[in-house]
Amino acid sequence: MLLDQTSLMLAIGFSGAALGVTLFIAWLSARSEQFLFRLAVGVVALVCGVAVFSGYREDYSVARHFLGFMFVLLGFCLAWNSARHFRTGSAPAGPTALIALLTIGTTAVPFALGLDGLGAIVANVLATGVLVATAIELWRARAEAPVPIRVTAALYCVGATSFFLCALALVMEGDMVLPGAPANWAEEINAIVAIFAMSGIGALSLALHQSRLARRHQSEAMTDPLTGLLNRRALFDRFGQEPLAGPIAVLLCDLDHFKSINDIHGHAAGDDVLRQFASTVRQLVGAQGVPARLGGEEFAVVLPGAGAPQAAVMGERIRATFAGCGLETLAGPVTCTVSIGVAVCEEPRDGFETLLGQADAALYAAKRDGRNRVAVRNLQLVA
Ligand code: GH3
Ligand code: MG
Ligand code: MG
Repeated sequence: MLLDQTSLMLAIGFSGAALGVTLFIAWLSARSEQFLFRLAVGVVALVCGVAVFSGYREDYSVARHFLGFMFVLLGFCLAWNSARHFRTGSAPAGPTALIALLTIGTTAVPFALGLDGLGAIVANVLATGVLVATAIELWRARAEAPVPIRVTAALYCVGATSFFLCALALVMEGDMVLPGAPANWAEEINAIVAIFAMSGIGALSLALHQSRLARRHQSEAMTDPLTGLLNRRALFDRFGQEPLAGPIAVLLCDLDHFKSINDIHGHAAGDDVLRQFASTVRQLVGAQGVPARLGGEEFAVVLPGAGAPQAAVMGERIRATFAGCGLETLAGPVTCTVSIGVAVCEEPRDGFETLLGQADAALYAAKRDGRNRVAVRNLQLVA
């Protein structure tokens, strides 16, 4: 034997226990990321399996062999559940419990008949299957973070291969009833793979968790909580960094006499009106442009690629739809209109701030001319 099996088992057990604790602590700081918790519980089950297996060469029994596999299969089923939760955002316990029952139940039959060699082959093949299924779950989620997810999936595949080799070695030996605990080249490979695959998967899962949290915080910082639209900062991040690549249009929308809605119907009704205006704009603009709430009752819609005619048509659609839709609020039906200033940049020269200033001037004209109207101002004409 190349390596001392007990030391290997101790190494797997301790690194697994440390990993389980780390995953659990990371989960505590952001409990919505359930996949970490499920992986932590899976790792705990694996550590229990390792504890059962450690030293079983000196003190072998069929029951101990089976118990070790039971924990290992349970741990792998939880890892599969964790990967599924990572990909889909939810992973009900039912299917996982069923797979755990099926794999453990199938393994139990040959062990119960005293055929521990056959039982170990079955358990190793089933472990291979669950690990491959976990790798597939992750692979399907690879768009979120291509490199770490691909590497994690690859590590699960390496783990799967090492369990498959264990089954293969036992088949080659051909003993359906084992003289003692399996001790062959595949078992050694399996133990070494377990150490690096488990630590690698743990570290990468923590990294994926952190990048998810960072993305969520960034998206929260860029989103207006009342309407779900982008906020001013996000809009400037997107369009305000470089000179504009025209043509591009901006619609600046300001609700008319909005203060009186708050005064008459209450602030909550005002909020309802803001949400309904945002949803009207979102529906009408669709994929053609980017709507944002600049603040208060002021919104902007950026229409990349739009010239003055298209921008004016979109402005008029927003104005007419909003004026015509019955606004339902907590305080009952409310009527409200919007004034819109349109500015268009057809040459790539000025910045976003200038374009927004032009739209603001047009909006001022729309307000001055009586509100509930669209005023167009072409950047080129006034330059
Ligand atoms: P005008 O037609 O000239 O635009 O008049 P206005 O009343 O719409 O404009 P004004 O700037 O006087 O009032 C804007 C109001 O919008 C005042 C402020 O209390 C209200 N407001 C700003 N943010 C919010 C919000 O998040 N919710 C609610 N309900 N009201 C808001
Ligand atoms: Mg205003
Ligand atoms: Mg207003």
